[in-house]
Amino acid sequence: MMEKKKGLGTICVQEGWRPKNGQPRVLPIVESTTFKYDNSEEMADLFDLKKDGYFYTRLQNPTNDAVARKIAALEGGVGAVLTSSGQAATFYAVFNICEAGDHIVASNEIYGGTYNLFNVTLRKLGIDCTFVSPKSSEQEIGAAFKPNTKVLFGETISNPSCDVLDIEKFARIAHGHGVPLIVDNTFATPINCRPFEWGADIVTHSTTKYMDGHASQVGGAVVDSGHFDWEAHADKYPGLTQPDESYHGITYSRQFGKMAYCTKIVSQLMRDLGSIPSPFNSFLLNLGLESLHLRMARHCSNAQEVAEYLREHPKVAWVHYPGLRGDANYDLAQKYLPNGSCGVMALGLKGDKDTAIRFMDSLKMINIVTHVADARTCVLHPASHTHRQLTDEQLKQAGIAPDLIRLSVGIEDVEDIISDLRQALAQE
Ligand SMILES: *Cc1c(COP(=O)(O)O)cnc(C)c1O
Repeated sequence: MMEKKKGLGTICVQEGWRPKNGQPRVLPIVESTTFKYDNSEEMADLFDLKKDGYFYTRLQNPTNDAVARKIAALEGGVGAVLTSSGQAATFYAVFNICEAGDHIVASNEIYGGTYNLFNVTLRKLGIDCTFVSPKSSEQEIGAAFKPNTKVLFGETISNPSCDVLDIEKFARIAHGHGVPLIVDNTFATPINCRPFEWGADIVTHSTTKYMDGHASQVGGAVVDSGHFDWEAHADKYPGLTQPDESYHGITYSRQFGKMAYCTKIVSQLMRDLGSIPSPFNSFLLNLGLESLHLRMARHCSNAQEVAEYLREHPKVAWVHYPGLRGDANYDLAQKYLPNGSCGVMALGLKGDKDTAIRFMDSLKMINIVTHVADARTCVLHPASHTHRQLTDEQLKQAGIAPDLIRLSVGIEDVEDIISDLRQALAQE
């Protein structure tokens, strides 16, 4: 009998680790690099991918796998692979289906680290990237595609500009050109948006953010919907549809069907590049995931109140929060994020860059940290912190004004958050 599909809150708490008789109820931390077998033939079958089982933690580990299963279930995907950071997740998601000589198209409203990865490091590897404004028409974005384009990439809610991606539009463009859509769903989390339901093919996460939620581990995840038909575009994706000579001539799409993409990440990219999370970090991530559904609701209700407060404040020039009526992203947010977007907003104060810095320095409870999307309210000034490698022109392209302050609203009592903002604004 098919098991009834569980709610997201139940998946957060229960999915992933299902103990058998006498096993620990809580997900065990398997801090072992290796696993013992009785004879060499059993081990050989594992290496040949004939049998499923553990042999070396760089490839698979029971703690990591349980947490990957939970994230796959939350997104509604067929499989997920955990990585040591969100950056590694983005790199693997793209590099799994691209090689030197290929080209990708990416929204320019994306995380600064991803922008650098695409604009600098991927180019060094021979993968070219064209950035497009997600606000452009389908035709304009389509014009960026070339015969060697392999991926379209966007962010559900962009960090730090808080723009909402029109996922259906991006999926139409990607599929019209025979390539998968990869969406970074870090800020929305699957609690507020499941991009696969809108046509995305692959989802990436920095689990460092809301999924962990306590700022205690750095991690990432790649999730595959299993929807993209690699065989139908076999000439474009030889890595999945042609024999892998580095792995006994296995053809991933034929041998693993819907699990082809995830299997290739593990057996090829993890084998050659590493970047697994430690099982201990996955344990911490799992603790965070157990309350993700509760925390996201609180982040959203707190952020909504804070955004409304700031918008009315005479010293505040502008606030971007997708939940604000009248916000440029309000309609897209109503469609893709009807239960709330996230706790992050962008704002500018009347004055200059120094006004922003003075305001942040006057905050007491709210700290300036290079982080976002965790339980504690925090602020950051991207132009002088996370994005300081970017030129003014690149900042503008990424939708980041020099006065932009990124405020990440936590899950404290909202009165205390507003009271700290009020006293810091009064200093100005
Ligand atoms: C932080 C972040 C990343 C990078 O993740 P790390 O875990 O810091 O490597 C990627 N995408 C988004 C949207 C992020 O916020």
